[in-house]
Amino acid sequence: MFEQYPFDLGYEGTIWRPPSEAKSLIIQATVGCSWNACTFCGNYRDRKFRVKSLDEIKRSIKLAKMLYGSYVRRVFLADGNALVMPTDLMIEVLDLLKKEFPMLERVSCYGGPRDSLGKSLSELKELYEHGLKLVYLGVESGDDVVLKKVNKGVNSSQMIEACRKIIDSGIKLSVTVILGLGGRERSHQHAVETARVLNAIDPQYLAPLTLMIVPGTPLHREYLKGAFKPLTPLETLIELKTMIERLELTNCIFRCNHASNYLAIGGTLPDDKEDMVELLSKVIEKISSRPELEKKMLRPEYLRAL
Ligand code: SF4
Repeated sequence: MFEQYPFDLGYEGTIWRPPSEAKSLIIQATVGCSWNACTFCGNYRDRKFRVKSLDEIKRSIKLAKMLYGSYVRRVFLADGNALVMPTDLMIEVLDLLKKEFPMLERVSCYGGPRDSLGKSLSELKELYEHGLKLVYLGVESGDDVVLKKVNKGVNSSQMIEACRKIIDSGIKLSVTVILGLGGRERSHQHAVETARVLNAIDPQYLAPLTLMIVPGTPLHREYLKGAFKPLTPLETLIELKTMIERLELTNCIFRCNHASNYLAIGGTLPDDKEDMVELLSKVIEKISSRPELEKKMLRPEYLRAL
């Protein structure tokens, strides 16, 4: 519905948003990322984190109302980890959004695990009651060795606690994991442990991305030194298959169609699990026996993006 930022709504820097928020109104409530220290991430390295003032956010909302009126049904609060906002401020923003956009159905934002751990369950419940319906959170890996290496800021138990707290509050949770994040050294453990953590979280939405090594990040420097060995596309599919085989989720929309992925698959778990594993097995078998098919069957490197 919304053209990509035709008017100045007060955005600072590049705005990142989940693919599923492509049609949402984006209100920037924070600038940068509240953690900004994951070794693989280059999204917000160019800016210092701050929470915008209520006045700044109000100005953006008022202007958006003049432009879009009552048509706004979905709002995404940017930037990285708007969930870190003080609860009182976020409630004021959510109430204002509801007042200005009477047709509003959903407000969502990014949240880091530490942001969730920093709030009580009752605070999260309050946010839900005031309109925060969905949080996107990067689990990245369930392997404690990988989580430490990439400096995610939490271990797997804390990750589970942070995610369960969001779900228990009523807010829906959409998580991403990153295929290949453990490199060749940790690939199997990364897949097995990530499935374990996902099973404990039991999210409503799950989206695996595939690692892209971003220049300027600590991970890129490790890669240049030869200390990090990335997976081949085929190894990435094997990792994905290993992970899906072990997933025991109760009701999850699974989308592996992000632009970084070599193969787009998706479905609902647990119903489509067997079909997805079978499809992956066939593709892995074909490419293993005839490597020249990789070019035809998988997204080429130059078309991958974040
Ligand atoms: S991955 Fe997420 S939490 Fe980590 S630095 Fe990037 S935006 Fe921040």
